[in-house]
Amino acid sequence: MAFRRTIAKEVACEGIALHAGTQVRMLLEPAVPGTGIIFRRLDLDGAEIPALYDRVAETTLGTTLAEGKATIAVVEHLMAAVAGAGIDDLVIQIDGAEPPVLDGDALSFLELLDVAGAKDSDVERQAIKVLRRVEVSHKDASAALIPAQFPQYAVEIEFASAAIGHQAYAVDFTPAAFRAEIAPARTFGDIAQLDALKKMDRGHGASLHNTLAIDGDRVLNADIQRFPDEFVRHKILDAVGDLSLAGTPLIARFEGIKSGHALNNQLLRALFADPANYRLITAP
Ligand SMILES: [Zn+2]
Repeated sequence: MAFRRTIAKEVACEGIALHAGTQVRMLLEPAVPGTGIIFRRLDLDGAEIPALYDRVAETTLGTTLAEGKATIAVVEHLMAAVAGAGIDDLVIQIDGAEPPVLDGDALSFLELLDVAGAKDSDVERQAIKVLRRVEVSHKDASAALIPAQFPQYAVEIEFASAAIGHQAYAVDFTPAAFRAEIAPARTFGDIAQLDALKKMDRGHGASLHNTLAIDGDRVLNADIQRFPDEFVRHKILDAVGDLSLAGTPLIARFEGIKSGHALNNQLLRALFADPANYRLITAP
């Protein structure tokens, strides 16, 4: 039996926002059992935004949550770290429109959570057991949840650039495997699209320190690359973060082919659209 977990003490960090390019300060605070994960915008009179799939308002260039007029963008890397650390209840205070991007991975958030420590409550943790296959697709991309004994992630991607090409990766989602194999994988982007991105007022905080930069068939900053297949591992990292917006850990195998934030969110909406797809159980 497992119990709902929060952090043992407050912890703070500061850094640049990936798209806005502004300096943001983030404070993680323990929360009482049942709170779930909540973002609080300090610069918007403390407006609260629950980290739940039905609050996802935008999925281009990251997952954006909204509650009323308040939004919080690019939540997926932080959410992946929170899920990887097994944290159920947490208040995330931020004085800007995005969490800081830090190293462009989930490991830097995981290390922050290590400093905070974990604290179990006496309230039982629940889990969502997927009972039958749920799949969504768009053109040649798809995402599926498949009944399984343990959480697993398997993703395949295909990019024209020889720096990426075809990559496939599968992992059993345990805290140790997430930390070692998935959390260090950095976000990536095509240098050729960076100007267009900046014209859309995005990517202002992207740098050679936090984003693997694809330049034709090579990685411009290969010096910070951690794995040859870092790109597909990062896609799993994104999926872990996006699927954590179910609000309760999922027991299922996730299979993604060229999947991204939009399909990840549609998948959760499809899962919850029919109560016959799942059952709420006491977490093992
Ligand atoms: Zn990402």
